[in-house]
Amino acid sequence: MTTVFLNGQFMPIAEAKVPVMDRGFLFGDGAYELIPVYSRRPFRLAEHLRRLQHTLDGIRLANPHAEAEWMRLIGEIVARNDGDDQSVYLQVTRGADTKRNHAFPAQVVPTVFIMTEPLVTPPPAQREQGIAAISAPDMRWLRCDLKTISLLANCLLRQQAVDAGCVETLLFRDGFLTEGAASNIFVVRDGVLLAPPKDHLMLPGITYDVVLELAAAHGLPAEVRPVAEAEARGADELWMTSSTKEVLPIVRLDGQPVGRDENAGRPGPVGRRMYDWYQAFKQTVMRAGE
Ligand code: PMP
Repeated sequence: MTTVFLNGQFMPIAEAKVPVMDRGFLFGDGAYELIPVYSRRPFRLAEHLRRLQHTLDGIRLANPHAEAEWMRLIGEIVARNDGDDQSVYLQVTRGADTKRNHAFPAQVVPTVFIMTEPLVTPPPAQREQGIAAISAPDMRWLRCDLKTISLLANCLLRQQAVDAGCVETLLFRDGFLTEGAASNIFVVRDGVLLAPPKDHLMLPGITYDVVLELAAAHGLPAEVRPVAEAEARGADELWMTSSTKEVLPIVRLDGQPVGRDENAGRPGPVGRRMYDWYQAFKQTVMRAGE
């Protein structure tokens, strides 16, 4: 059975319980991270822990563990569970109070939970065919840079895609692309990679950073700047990126084929190259034992 970590102890998942007064349960008051693990090695762990710190600072919650302790706990959860490729989920909430009160309790003991699941990346057929997406107005709050567990808007937006037989929902705010319901979005136009800038309107994706680093390393021209809705709709290629989806081509948006001429409605060459660079990079990092 899956072993999880809850508040200082490792235990079978069925035994892990949190009080109903936990502010994570009552208010969605907490932070989380999801870290892909390849060959039992967490990928970009320091960067994930830095983003966790950013979220905790943003929600005014003291980090319950030093970086080295997080690394130890994550290493242990990986070791205690089956599978070389895993997806480690960690969550910190503001803990349980005695009363339901919006304002923070005076004494807080945060709840710390870590679990792991098998890492599921897109099957080859989906990668080769690409996926369909819809679009929707970005109706979330103005701190989308924080990876909080208050994900109701993201869940509603993702469900909208699923209801339409699609995989992702692209979000537009005030005429500009922000991101996907649970991914970052890249646009390719005339051989140039376009990415919205990291600001309060999108999650600073770990995969987003890797993609931009790979573009720079391989000489693919990239512009990080606001991307107008019309630019996204008229893209040669669209990709969604995340720790589990990696680099996945979007070939239909709101029922229209993405791209032009012989590439219309099919994954494009730039995305294919980026996917290969990403896989090669993962291999290099794993071999180097980063
Ligand atoms: N944006 C949102 C809203 C997300 O939920 C995610 C992934 N959870 C991402 C972007 C991608 O982030 P990462 O590359 O770190 O997985």
